[in-house]
Amino acid sequence: TPTVGVLALQGDVREHVAALEAGGARATTVRRPAELAEVDGLVLPGGESTTIDRLLRVFELREPLRERIAQGLPVYGSCAGMILLADRLLDGGKDQQTLGGLDITVRRNAFGRQVDSWEEDLPLAGITDGGPDVDAVFIRAPWVEEAGPEVEVVGRLSADAAGGRAAGRIVAVRQGALLATSFHPEITGDDRVHRHFVAMVRQRL
Ligand code: GLN
Repeated sequence: TPTVGVLALQGDVREHVAALEAGGARATTVRRPAELAEVDGLVLPGGESTTIDRLLRVFELREPLRERIAQGLPVYGSCAGMILLADRLLDGGKDQQTLGGLDITVRRNAFGRQVDSWEEDLPLAGITDGGPDVDAVFIRAPWVEEAGPEVEVVGRLSADAAGGRAAGRIVAVRQGALLATSFHPEITGDDRVHRHFVAMVRQRL
């Protein structure tokens, strides 16, 4: 059984711990470099990416985490976690940095003020194949504005998403050992995205 950590500086940590356990992993929380060293994979939860970015530096986790990502650590980022994994960020906070790893440009709070949250049933390539769509819940979510050639598009919004404002936007991606979604599968009781990530972690053991 792989050990998968959840970065526990801020955000919806408990929901991810529960979803990982349901998805077949042993889940732990990560706040210190020594805890990071123990995990086979890591989840970056939803929350506030500017705060998590700041705390990563305060807790001296930023550099060790960048190093492990460069070495191929499987990481799944949800919402704020997707922002942290993006190589390029639009509408970031003042002095906000990302960890990077995914060759994507992400727009933070992309749906805009009028459409703070959005929910849509989505098929996800390699995850929902042959089964029902996932109930994708977006909360002040980012979207992927641009994806490089090595990035697999796992999920996209429909043509009428957010009244057309978010038509066809990419909201789930994978590149190598990195997976990211703009939405929050951990709050819907559907563990298929986490199960898929745990399988990615197993493959790298
Ligand atoms: N808007 C948040 C950010 O910028 C993300 C929201 C979320 O994770 N639900 O980090």
